[in-house]
Amino acid sequence: MDDIEIIIYPMALAKMIQHTSSNIHKEVAGYLIGKVPNDHTIEITDIAIARQEGTSVHVTLKDEDQALIAERLEQEQLDEVIVGWYHSHPKMGAHFFSATDISTQKRYQYFLPQAVGLVLDPYQYVLSGQIRDMDIHAWKVDEKGSAKDLPYRILEDSNKSILNILEHLKRQKVLESAVTQIIYSLNPKLEQSISEILGMNIEGALTSGGILNLRKVVLLSILIQALVILGVFLIVWAIIILTI
Ligand SMILES: [Zn+2]
Repeated sequence: MDDIEIIIYPMALAKMIQHTSSNIHKEVAGYLIGKVPNDHTIEITDIAIARQEGTSVHVTLKDEDQALIAERLEQEQLDEVIVGWYHSHPKMGAHFFSATDISTQKRYQYFLPQAVGLVLDPYQYVLSGQIRDMDIHAWKVDEKGSAKDLPYRILEDSNKSILNILEHLKRQKVLESAVTQIIYSLNPKLEQSISEILGMNIEGALTSGGILNLRKVVLLSILIQALVILGVFLIVWAIIILTI
């Protein structure tokens, strides 16, 4: 368990930063979506925000939503699963995992031994606006039931990152139909955060080969479908006119 490699994709990190910093008076939480390529690696590619109840020192997610999200990911064969959870410790620091956090984490590890629990304290980030001020720790529970603070790394491969952002559109559609709460779309603020994490301008990459083209393809397919429907309608109409 100790030698597990935790890789966080920039988009997933940017979304967690936006979500946790959206409320520094209340704990917030969400699910980690990702892949487990082998027993010793876990990749966090996205997040899902579901229904939750939070106070300044506590947060609980609704179990039904977890089941719904897992079901939809499987149905759509997205090759991704829920790989853990994240929650915020506003103003308290991410350097500890409470007794409640341990028991929650144990449930995730029961279903997926590699599952990880991320804790984020957005307070310093909210003050400075600098991503490096985000306090983030990755946790697991060992065989003895103690919390273990584990190292993690942010994915630096920009090609993989861009691909992940493109796949996001499909994933978002699937997740949005599973849970009613907001799943972050790629707003300009989020794109800026991803650019900062990646240390590059993603806007150009997305515009040249990415999201804009994908949107064009979607629009074109809608247009073709509309033309086909119109064509069928005209044929039926012509038949009716000719037979009268
Ligand atoms: Zn906690």
